[in-house]
Amino acid sequence: MAKKKQYGLQCSFCGRSEAEGATVLPSPDGHAGICMDCLETAATMLGMIGDDNSGSVARRARATHHQSTHSTVAADESKEARPMPKPQEIKAFLDQYIIGQEQAKKYLSVAVYNHYKRLDQPVDEDGVEIEKSNIIMVGPTGTGKTLIARTIAKILDVPFTIVDATVLTQAGYVGEDIESLLTRLLQVADYDVERAQRGIVFIDEIDKIARKGDNPSITRDVGGEGVQQGLLKLLEGSVVNVPPQGGRKHPEQPMIAVDTKDILFICGGAFEGIEQAIAHRLNSSFVGFSTDAAQRRIEKDRFMSHVAPQDLRTFGLIPEIIGRLPILTHLLPLDREALRRILTEPKNAITRQYEKLFAMDGVKLTFEPEALDYIVDKAIEFKLGARGLRSIVETIMMNSMYDIPSTQEKTFTVTPQYCAEQLEAAHFDAQAV
Ligand code: ADP
Repeated sequence: MAKKKQYGLQCSFCGRSEAEGATVLPSPDGHAGICMDCLETAATMLGMIGDDNSGSVARRARATHHQSTHSTVAADESKEARPMPKPQEIKAFLDQYIIGQEQAKKYLSVAVYNHYKRLDQPVDEDGVEIEKSNIIMVGPTGTGKTLIARTIAKILDVPFTIVDATVLTQAGYVGEDIESLLTRLLQVADYDVERAQRGIVFIDEIDKIARKGDNPSITRDVGGEGVQQGLLKLLEGSVVNVPPQGGRKHPEQPMIAVDTKDILFICGGAFEGIEQAIAHRLNSSFVGFSTDAAQRRIEKDRFMSHVAPQDLRTFGLIPEIIGRLPILTHLLPLDREALRRILTEPKNAITRQYEKLFAMDGVKLTFEPEALDYIVDKAIEFKLGARGLRSIVETIMMNSMYDIPSTQEKTFTVTPQYCAEQLEAAHFDAQAV
């Protein structure tokens, strides 16, 4: 039983709980759990894990983590941490959470694997130094860029933070200093500088600092090159003095020196209209005005898969930044089928979350397939994309969440009629448009 009393989840094999430093993976039904150490033992017994990765980063990162957060648990320190997962394993893990986006998942898996392999390379052995490969993901908003970055950080057990590039400004301007993104990384690493220095930073909306001339605010340098130059320093790798509590730097404040050379930066941006730039470069006409929506999508997808660094220049990203983001990959817009799968397939799919919530009240919740189709239709109708699925389901389920715990019902079935009634009663149509 994966008990969750005051000790957190408990491993069904060795009995250790989260409070004792174990990281416990619950079974899908929540009735059992296994900690990482038992999982590792099982994998070793099955011959799945060799011992060739004894120096891997994941292992060391985890060992550091355990030392810093659970130093009283002697048993943990003597145990080997799990080895660095291979690209195919990382991709398989991503597949459990992210629907589609095959190229992005594959590229990220390889890039991240190489990045941590690079950190493990012996110093000066043969003169070959593997360079850092930061990553840039191009794709419409709400298609999984943040989700991929977040999921990768989860499997690697490294500190991870997300920053919105639009709030970053050059020092002296109103907004946040570039260094503030390292403050956040330090915070999630519990101020363990070593750990933070091997973390991952996801910089969202990178395209917004590149665009010149469309920023109405004169107090921010978001449109100019100042932010890009500042960012470049971090991407290249340099030692930066970081204010531990964030905010503005001031002379009396003690600073923490953070070296960014081993921090992996993953950037994401929608780069709206990039298909035209690609088409232009490829010297073929972009038939983006086709009246047939399906046809239009195929055309967009076709161009998107040819995205190249020079297309980013059209958006005002300085060449030095592009040069420091050598892994370029793209995400595709989510079609009806992808949205439908997102509702039910990912490990923490929204419908599964509700089923679990209801199960905790002893109620078996079922979504009729037609109800799921209806939800997807609404997300498409209101152009809400994958993010909209959640708000639609939340609205639909609100009343039943309120009523069911106080009734004797043991089952609850969501039908398309029920969805329509609930959305109508909540005036969802009016909110969404
Ligand atoms: P982006 O960073 O591209 O703007 P996000 O990764 O933040 O988009 O996606 C928003 C939410 O939509 C996610 O948290 C997830 O619930 C859902 N989502 C988006 N794309 C996918 C996908 N490909 N597979 C599964 N869920 C997705």
